[in-house]
Amino acid sequence: MLAESEITRVLTVTAHPDDVDFGAAGTVALFGDRGVEVTYLVVTDGDAGGNERELDNSGMAELRRAEQTAAAKAVGVTDVRFLGYADGSVVPSLELRRDIARVIRQVRPDLVITHHPDRNYQFIAPSHPDHRAVGGSALDAVYPDARNPYAFPELLTEEGLEAWTVREVWLTGGSTPDHWVDVTDAMDRKMTALQSHVSQVAHVEGFTDFVRSRFASWGERAGFGPGRYAEGFQVVQTA
Ligand SMILES: [Zn+2]
Repeated sequence: MLAESEITRVLTVTAHPDDVDFGAAGTVALFGDRGVEVTYLVVTDGDAGGNERELDNSGMAELRRAEQTAAAKAVGVTDVRFLGYADGSVVPSLELRRDIARVIRQVRPDLVITHHPDRNYQFIAPSHPDHRAVGGSALDAVYPDARNPYAFPELLTEEGLEAWTVREVWLTGGSTPDHWVDVTDAMDRKMTALQSHVSQVAHVEGFTDFVRSRFASWGERAGFGPGRYAEGFQVVQTA
């Protein structure tokens, strides 16, 4: 596993606005505290979610992009990119792999954080089909596409993007996390990030308590002791 000092650039690849905040915003905030540069790549605009149904889908897309941008700011991230795929119908595809590989080559991260591509049978929410499609395509983009100069050759010949080898991937939402980050010092910022998604969470009664108790239970599972909060990942060596 990479040492902390070996991680200087991080790219997150998630399906919907708010996914990165549920899964990793505390970890992202702590990266920022150490001067690590973090870029968010969000595959859809989340235009099929939310309760503000007086908005049509394009109004919802615009709102959710703005909410994700505000949430990113709460944990110190200013580079937020959207691919604009349709919410609810993402499939693993060559097009998606190329679009993710392009951003990997642009950002040149040491670490990619993305969704676990396998179904979690303990808890259903992490296994939204868009999440599994994005996680699988992101792993394929890490290996082999981004590092192989002959994969999607137009990225090199037309856009000048050299091959890049990501060294490690952390997966969120899996059933067997093996790396826990103590995010207690960043929990307030994680909550601010989550609450930036007003269209998704403002109407959810007890949202703050629900989130805090979830991540506190992971803090105990991680062995950090009572009153500590944790985010969990499955680590994949990729280099
Ligand atoms: Zn999602």
